[in-house]
Amino acid sequence: MNKLQVWLNRRAAEVLGYGSCEKCGRGWNICKGYGVAHTSSTGSFALCEDCWNNSTVDERVMYWKIAYDKHWTDTGIPFSRYEQAVRRNLQWENYCPQCGYLSEDGSNKCMNKDCGVERWGI
Ligand SMILES: [Zn+2]
Ligand SMILES: [Zn+2]
Repeated sequence: MNKLQVWLNRRAAEVLGYGSCEKCGRGWNICKGYGVAHTSSTGSFALCEDCWNNSTVDERVMYWKIAYDKHWTDTGIPFSRYEQAVRRNLQWENYCPQCGYLSEDGSNKCMNKDCGVERWGI
């Protein structure tokens, strides 16, 4: 997709009050965002599903950084959390629903000894 088309897509979304994909510029009114989770209750999306699927991991991180600098610097969440979520494609299911602990090995077993959740469903 050429730069003009991306720009036109983004402008069309802005006029209607929608944010847009950082890569193709299509608004969230006409495409579906692909989200990742930084904690058990917060997430973000910077790319549409198509662009997520058609980007390398490093490209995904780059687009998340662009969106972070534009929108999310005041969230208090450091970019490293976003980057981790993007690189590992983390979803809410990867976090313990009780204490928010991130499962390091994808086993959905909480390693937080103070928590007590043995396993949670994915
Ligand atoms: Zn896109
Ligand atoms: Zn837990």
